[in-house]
Amino acid sequence: MTYDVPFNKPTLVGEEMQYIQQALAGMHISGDGSFSKQVHRLLEQVLGVPRVLLTTSCTHALEMSAILLNIQAGDEVIVPSFTFVSTVNAFVLRGAKPVFVDVRPDTLNMDENKLEALITPRTRAIVPVHYAGVACEMDAIMAIAQKHNVAVVEDNAHALFGKYKGKYLGTFGVLATQSFHETKNFTCGEGGALLVNDPKLIERAEIIREKGTNRSRFFRGQVDKYTWVDIGSSFLPSDMLAAFLYAQLEHRDEIQAKRAQIWQRYHDHLRDWADEHHVQLPTVPAHVDQAYHMYYMLMPSLDVRTKLIAYLKSKQIGSVFHYLPLHLSDMGKQFGGREGDCPVTEDVSDRLVRLPFFNSLSEVEQLYVIEALHAFTEWS
Ligand SMILES: *Cc1c(COP(=O)(O)O)cnc(C)c1O
Repeated sequence: MTYDVPFNKPTLVGEEMQYIQQALAGMHISGDGSFSKQVHRLLEQVLGVPRVLLTTSCTHALEMSAILLNIQAGDEVIVPSFTFVSTVNAFVLRGAKPVFVDVRPDTLNMDENKLEALITPRTRAIVPVHYAGVACEMDAIMAIAQKHNVAVVEDNAHALFGKYKGKYLGTFGVLATQSFHETKNFTCGEGGALLVNDPKLIERAEIIREKGTNRSRFFRGQVDKYTWVDIGSSFLPSDMLAAFLYAQLEHRDEIQAKRAQIWQRYHDHLRDWADEHHVQLPTVPAHVDQAYHMYYMLMPSLDVRTKLIAYLKSKQIGSVFHYLPLHLSDMGKQFGGREGDCPVTEDVSDRLVRLPFFNSLSEVEQLYVIEALHAFTEWS
């Protein structure tokens, strides 16, 4: 039997259309309608966050963070080079200079041991990314941030419902951002959220999200007219998207259990094979509850990875590499990035491959992928 297994496929839980129809019937399809409020409440209650605000994307939640922290020209922000471009661009848009930190060779997360040496009097923020849904070393990162009075913004796009030492990711930093893009564990096509952990920032976050106006206070009856009070933009999604997302989030336990099963099946079936062929499988520290965002492998070389991706493609299996080092991108070089700055990032970026991983991936499809991997021969 052969199968056609894409790398990713959005999976519906069933109630998405019904909830969108409810939003339509209620005649409130702009932002902050009843479904947006239900998503806010659900995430606030489950995570224990004082305020959650849906946004049009994780990128926009990151941009809001940079505005909220008053990031200015000349400020420095410490970011991993091994991340999605938005983690960095959001701060660069405010005039900040990105300072790239390398990742740990085991979890591929920001290397907390290399962090303190990068702090200068101009450092304003540290942005950890919990890669693949596995937590960064938050005790060490928070201690360094507190010592130097620097804000932490967690890019939690991969790690909603993941934990570090029993505490939810997204609750460590003063701010944290989520993505509900089609490729993430929970989706509404395009979407995101800002988690505001410092109550002092809530009111200004609401203003920035509502075009720099105090419209949120007006809707709550706290002021009798709304007006322009700060800088801002339009960061709130339509309630139709919130309706779609609410359906997905209601099934969060089931979705995470399914993803855990997929992750574990890859891990169990590939362990011996990986040892034999010097392939590095993901590391999940014992004190971390991961969010099962992806399954990746580090192949022995760029050449073997290239051959593996082509081989899997010939078997109708989608596999992809991931981030190119940002410090070596055209923009990264303009900020002084040079080869050798982040040696672990440069190395793993060449060797990493991600396997098909989505909520509706069936056991037979997955076993087909595993069997194909076992039959791969082009190791040199
Ligand atoms: C997906 C992703 C983003 C961007 O998310 P959008 O919702 O598409 O803006 C940012 N950071 C990381 C780490 C991501 O994986």
